[in-house]
This record gives sequence, C-alpha cells and structure tokens, in this order.
Amino acid sequence: MGIRRQKVYFCHHCHKTMESSDTLMLVEEEASRCFCSEDCIMGFYGPRNDYFDLNAQRIRAELKLPEKDKLLQYKNSEEKIKQTLEEPDEVWEQENEVGEVYYTHLKEFKVGTSSFWMIIICFHFQEEPSYIFLTEVTNSKELVNYYRSEEEFSLIQYEADNEPPELEIPTEILESVELKKSNFLALLLQSRDESDIEYEKFFLYEKNTVTTLEDPDEIFKHRDEENDTLLTYVKSFPEDNGNFFYIVVCMKVDLDSSADDDVLIPIISFPSTDPNLYMKYATGERISGNIKN
Ligand SMILES: [Zn+2]
Repeated sequence: MGIRRQKVYFCHHCHKTMESSDTLMLVEEEASRCFCSEDCIMGFYGPRNDYFDLNAQRIRAELKLPEKDKLLQYKNSEEKIKQTLEEPDEVWEQENEVGEVYYTHLKEFKVGTSSFWMIIICFHFQEEPSYIFLTEVTNSKELVNYYRSEEEFSLIQYEADNEPPELEIPTEILESVELKKSNFLALLLQSRDESDIEYEKFFLYEKNTVTTLEDPDEIFKHRDEENDTLLTYVKSFPEDNGNFFYIVVCMKVDLDSSADDDVLIPIISFPSTDPNLYMKYATGERISGNIKN
C-alpha cells in the first residue's frame, strides 16, 4: 500500500480543515454542518439571531405590545433559561424545506398572582438544546400563540429527563458485554461494504437507537456461543437518497430470576444501506411483536 488518503472535514464557517471527526463541533440534529470552534458557530449562526430579534420586535409592534416591557428583566435569567430549555411546558418544532428544524420551547412562570412565558427558539443536537436563536419573555397570550400557532408545527413530546434509573449490573456481565462489544465491532468492520455509510458518520445516526428499540420492524432472537440470549432489532428509515436501516443488537439479561424484569443491554448499533449486511444480522428466530425492557 502506498500513502493512505486521509479523511478531511471543513469548518463550515472558516473552512479550516480537520482530520479527525473527534474535534468537530455540531449543533444541528438533522444537518451535518460542522465547526472548528465556538467562535465559528457564533460567526455562522449569529446573523440568524439578528433575524429572530428583529422579527420579534416586528410582531410586538403589530400586536401593539409595549416596547419597554418590565418582564424583559427576566430575559437574561440563567435559571429561567435553564428551566425553559430543560423542563419546558411545550416544545414545538418547525422544519423548513431544506431540512432545518427550529425548536421552540415555551414555559410559563408564576409571579405573585400573574404569570409570564419564556419563549426560546433553538436547535437541538442529540436530543438536547444546542444553539439558541431567540429568548423572549412576555405575558401576552397573542405573542405566545404566534410562536406556536403555525399549522406545520407539531407538538413533540420532550423528555428532558429521559435517563433510565441506574441498574445494578454484576461485573461479570459487564465484562462479558464489553467483550461482545469489541467482537461485534471487529466483525462489523470486517464485513462492511466500502460503499456503505462510513463508520465516522455512525454517531450522526445514534438518535435512531431509541426508535428502533421502541418500534422495530423486526426482532430476531438467537443464542450465542456463551449461551447468552441476543436480540437484534431492525428498523428501516427513509432518507433523501433511499432508505437505510438501523440495527441494534442487545443482550438479554435476567438480573433477578424470581422477578419478571429482563434487562436489555445494547451491544452494538449501526446504520447501513447494504442488504447483504442486513442478511448477516437478520438471523435466528424471528419474534413478532414488541418486547418491553
Ligand atoms: Zn472554523
């Protein structure tokens, strides 16, 4: 072999090159724009903040709301911003025709006998707020409605705290899982087709894990050499240029034989567009229906 060609990534703002995907910074769930620094993120998206600010002023004027609103003192309240981002009452999403999704968080705060709303428009990345475009506070229901009244918005369930409770898993099981993980990964890297989705991009697909487990197209069950039960979840997802499928392999662990509480521990999850790879994983007993963990 001669000289190996390196992969390269360009900062979306300054176009600086980066050779490792580890140093990339991303703020959008749906788009793969990457940046080299916080400054470049600000530089790239900053002009959009101006748009949202001007637009908010325009709507305030149209609704004849006072310019000097006393509530604006709360606009920079870190605590209220944090609550609106992490524990919103409502989250609305608006996707435009180029696939950008703006999320609008709304939260009502009580002050004495009255209340006001905080409105935050932001991007999400890995299911958490990432870049903020607008922070507004108001007691005007019309203004709040303006931010949630567009028909193409759909209210999504936003679970700020979707971490499962900590489970006590015995060390020998964890060690066995680690070994399976590395074996599975080695096997996957060997059997992949060169035209398939690049390994470096797998993290962009991780968000599909939950949907695949909760609403799989297929589940396969088999026992491996260590006599552990493995479940393979498969779901296909539409994408701009064809479908891809997402595969999650889990080990089923019975932590307490007296109770009916099997736990699924993920071993490997990955996207692929290669039907031959799918065939390798779609083996064992096909189970119909959904299994809850
Ligand atoms: Zn840059």
